[in-house]
Amino acid sequence: MTHPTPFERSNQNQTTDWASCIAFYETLARTFPQVLRFFPIGTSDNGLPLHAGVVSADGVFDREAIHAAGRPVFFNNNGIHPGEPEGIDACMALVRDFCTQPQRLAALGQTVFLFIPVYNVDGCLNRQATSRVNQLGPEEFGFRANGRNLDLNRDFIKCDSLAAQAFNRFFTAWDPDVMVDTHTSNGADYQYTMTLINTQTDKLGGGLGDFLRDTMLPTIYADMTQRGWPTCPYVNPVKTTPDDGIEDFLEVPRFSTGYAALHHTIGFMPETHMLKPFADRYASMRALVESVLAFTVEHGSAIQALRRAARAPLAVCSLRPVLWRPDYSRPASFRFKGFAPIYGESQLGNYYRLAYDRNQPWERDIAWFNRCVTDVEVAAPRSYYIPQAWREVIERLQWNGVELEHLTVDRLLQGEAYTIDRVASRPGPYEGHLFHDEVQLGTHATTVQARAGDVLVHLDQPRARYAVETLEPRAHDSFFRWGFFNAILEKKEHFSDYVFEDTALEMLHDEPELAAAFSRWKTENPALLSDQQAVLSFLYANGQRHAEPEWRRYPVVRVM
Ligand SMILES: [Zn+2]
Repeated sequence: MTHPTPFERSNQNQTTDWASCIAFYETLARTFPQVLRFFPIGTSDNGLPLHAGVVSADGVFDREAIHAAGRPVFFNNNGIHPGEPEGIDACMALVRDFCTQPQRLAALGQTVFLFIPVYNVDGCLNRQATSRVNQLGPEEFGFRANGRNLDLNRDFIKCDSLAAQAFNRFFTAWDPDVMVDTHTSNGADYQYTMTLINTQTDKLGGGLGDFLRDTMLPTIYADMTQRGWPTCPYVNPVKTTPDDGIEDFLEVPRFSTGYAALHHTIGFMPETHMLKPFADRYASMRALVESVLAFTVEHGSAIQALRRAARAPLAVCSLRPVLWRPDYSRPASFRFKGFAPIYGESQLGNYYRLAYDRNQPWERDIAWFNRCVTDVEVAAPRSYYIPQAWREVIERLQWNGVELEHLTVDRLLQGEAYTIDRVASRPGPYEGHLFHDEVQLGTHATTVQARAGDVLVHLDQPRARYAVETLEPRAHDSFFRWGFFNAILEKKEHFSDYVFEDTALEMLHDEPELAAAFSRWKTENPALLSDQQAVLSFLYANGQRHAEPEWRRYPVVRVM
């Protein structure tokens, strides 16, 4: 074989290092310039180049020419978690085979194979043998986090990493129809080597979601069995073990496939099982990528038509879901191959511990909760108004191809504003942010003075879904939840108690609504009446005289 990969030259339990991987693709691209184009698309936080590659059967690599011809784009992302590296090695062998096997290349037809060889470059270079606690092989591998200790598979919306910023732009520019982002799982033990997370079909929505659930997934599961790698849905047990059923993993937009769904791209996260030999994980990963690719080649134009339909302009006031939850009322059934769970006394503490007995395999139908229902819907506004001060938000919309109207003159806008009535945040940092798990809103009509340079996001555009699910505060991974607007949650001035004691009396006299609210508060909180700060803070927060209008007012306004 010409151009063997480091994995192929190894004892089948070794993964490539980053430098060898990049050098391998550079050599292929020099040797087979009609098949492969390989190029940097950005840098990592540690300053190393982030690469991507394109394979096409007819030597056309230009993105605009490919889009103009309406050609399907299949995208394979690897190494987001470099401790889960089989996809990195499998992609190298697949691209090499495109280069050296003309029939395989020709079988791509019009479809373009786009790939990122190693997405988390910093993590891949942080090579060691210990960080994957539960995993069998390979002998050495990279680390999960990047140079800023960020998990890149939580970073697609907030984009703290330079890699995610480059990815947002790259993904938007190429607009792939189907994406496969390769992983290794943690969790239960069972017989399968390959398990599959798909973009949750109800969340993907519409004809595209139905097509994925009813046509694409059954075909891929059947094809994987044919290829010798029977595959099950990602094992996300409803209770402790798969015996009681499994439920779809709701991959919200911080994850690769959830992000892809905001662009109406069908996404998969194959997760090989960590306790299977690396060589098997490698082989099943290669089979999975080839299976999804083959489906894309065969059904590319159908997928493209469904994506176009999903991008039809949003009608004003049409209801858009922004929050989903599992639906436990209508399980599907999956014929599952498991191992018997056994419980024994722990030798560490006074409790029973779970183990799986591989000498007791079982096969039976289990409940598969693969549907979700909408938890929160919002009426789509005509446009969102964003003051230019919130430039990190505007920047991210631009990276994602959202068309913006920059106002050229000051003008008054009428719309609907949110107040943040309540937030409950995580007690500690989550991926470097203060994440707000619970968000309650009030709504009121408003008139705002918009200035030249401020931005309007009209929703009659193809990228509307990204805008709605990042700008609506209650959406799973809104910019608000990630803390981009935290400054509005703080009052900026404060009172001196000895002065405000007298001011508050005047306010109670002048503001009957405040007086009524204060009476209610006193009845409900008798114990707090002996706490001066509690009393004055209530009056300060609820009185109008020294109100700060910016406090708890979400600055993005819905223009109806
Ligand atoms: Zn992973």
